[in-house]
Amino acid sequence: MLFKELNLKESSLKAIEALGFETPSEIQEKSIPLLLEGDIDYIGQAQTGTGKTAAFALPLLEKIDFSSKNIQSLILAPTRELANQICEEIKKLSKFEPVRTLAVYGGQPVSGQLRELRNNKPQVIVGTPGRVLDFINRGALKLETCKYIVLDEADEMLDMGFFDDVNTILSAAGENENKKIWMFSATMPRQILALVKQHFADPQIVKVTKKNLTADSVKQQYCMVRRRDQVEALCRYLDYHQNTYAIVFTKTKVGAKEITDELNMRGFPSDALHGDMSQEQRDLTMKKFKQKKISLLICTDVAARGIDVTDLTHVINFSLPQDNESYVHRIGRTGRGGNQGVALSIIDPAESRRIRDIERITKAKIEKIELPKITEIKEVLREKSYKEFTDSIEAFEAMESEDFENFKEKFADVDKEEILKGAFSFIFNQSLKRYKNAQDLDVKARESRDRDAGSSRRGERGNAGVQRGYEKFFLAIGRKDGMDPGNLIKMVSRGISVRGSEVGRIDIKDAFTFFEMPERYTDKVLGMNSDSWNQRKISVEVAQAGAGGGGGGGGGRGRRSGSPSGNRNPSRRRFQR
Ligand code: ADP
Ligand code: MG
Repeated sequence: MLFKELNLKESSLKAIEALGFETPSEIQEKSIPLLLEGDIDYIGQAQTGTGKTAAFALPLLEKIDFSSKNIQSLILAPTRELANQICEEIKKLSKFEPVRTLAVYGGQPVSGQLRELRNNKPQVIVGTPGRVLDFINRGALKLETCKYIVLDEADEMLDMGFFDDVNTILSAAGENENKKIWMFSATMPRQILALVKQHFADPQIVKVTKKNLTADSVKQQYCMVRRRDQVEALCRYLDYHQNTYAIVFTKTKVGAKEITDELNMRGFPSDALHGDMSQEQRDLTMKKFKQKKISLLICTDVAARGIDVTDLTHVINFSLPQDNESYVHRIGRTGRGGNQGVALSIIDPAESRRIRDIERITKAKIEKIELPKITEIKEVLREKSYKEFTDSIEAFEAMESEDFENFKEKFADVDKEEILKGAFSFIFNQSLKRYKNAQDLDVKARESRDRDAGSSRRGERGNAGVQRGYEKFFLAIGRKDGMDPGNLIKMVSRGISVRGSEVGRIDIKDAFTFFEMPERYTDKVLGMNSDSWNQRKISVEVAQAGAGGGGGGGGGRGRRSGSPSGNRNPSRRRFQR
């Protein structure tokens, strides 16, 4: 099908062409006619990266009265980044017949956004639920004229704890009989269905299911190394695959920080994104990443929400996520916009069973690869250095200076051979020396079976006290803060919507608490970090194994870690207080 066949106006078609979209995606092809023809409540489900934004933006542009100064559509999005992105996409799609849009979100003074609301008379508001509700409560945003309410990325809004706000907003809009609600989401958890039941009127539902949950444009691979070699393996991969532009996922924010330090030390400009950053820090990091001043962004699943960068070459899983849906979500961030992407998981032998699991669920093969061999890596590095060397000779003429005269004089007596040696060690030492005595890191399949038989996963992690299938967490709230087992069970079970009986062993100390949860909830438990309990900010991490253990989650302790050997293990550090 072609965009031309969708009955869109000329200005939209021109904008689509300018954007370089060739054909509508499946969700666009199915949504646009339905939304154009009738005035209906609508639910569109399709995975991340399938073009859901344009699927609602294009119909909106047909329905909006451009001569009116009223707010005609309210679009709710889970994060400030997504709100901005939706605004940008709408601006691009309405390039030849501009619609007035305004993005509103928290983390910035209300006053400026209020002023823009008053002065610019936006026809479309895109906002995060919290701030939108704030505007409604102030009476600044009235929904009477608002005909279309769009809930974008509904599942993420749910994940981010915005559902009460969304509910309240829909109830407030309920007085407007003529309004229509459109919802787009990658998944449909039960809570969303409950919301639909309450607020939607006989919605049409379109679900785009691919046979492969994962896009064909993503090549999925994994390599297997010992846990302690994971960082080294990543660096080797990056040395070989020059120009990798990637998000690296880790399980914990401590892991993210460690890997980031390590990568920077090895000359890969990287930065970490984690839940504790202020919005400003986050924006700054995102800006550097988008401008490619850093080429690697290390983050946890929680911190990665709402990031949308279209031209990632890779998504790298530094250890696998606990649940399959997170995996699909993660790797859907590459291979977008017509590009090919690679999703590489660097796993330890104990995780190999999870690979089979994911393959079964996603109905896609995850190919086992070996890390580039040392000779291959050296070849690439050599090539790169030669090029840099040649380039710098060529660039030289432009900078004749007295410094060079000085340099020449100083080394005038040294013969050419010696000069070459000097240049060589100066240029090549940095990169090639690292590989001088390096061995291959791949763990072969047979070896891994032996290891599986020989030691349980727990044994390997040196975290022997933890029940099988459970993860142990460290919570920086303890008895002195009023925590007790009953409170903990309530906090966790409500926090992540599970039964209290799912909570495993609990160990409450004066200033902190350890508790266990089934491993599959790890991401959710870590997701509680943005919540609060008893007016305290929840700070929870995967508890690190004791001395000598590989460390939970990201690990990140490279073999040749050169950092002064301070105790980098957070839970132990706290113990010693
Ligand atoms: P989703 O909301 O489903 O995750 P987005 O709406 O963010 O996906 O779209 C993902 C990317 O694909 C965006 O960069 C968008 O500009 C691009 N895109 C959308 N529709 C098309 C299309 N028909 N052809 C090519 N690229 C598209
Ligand atoms: Mg989207």
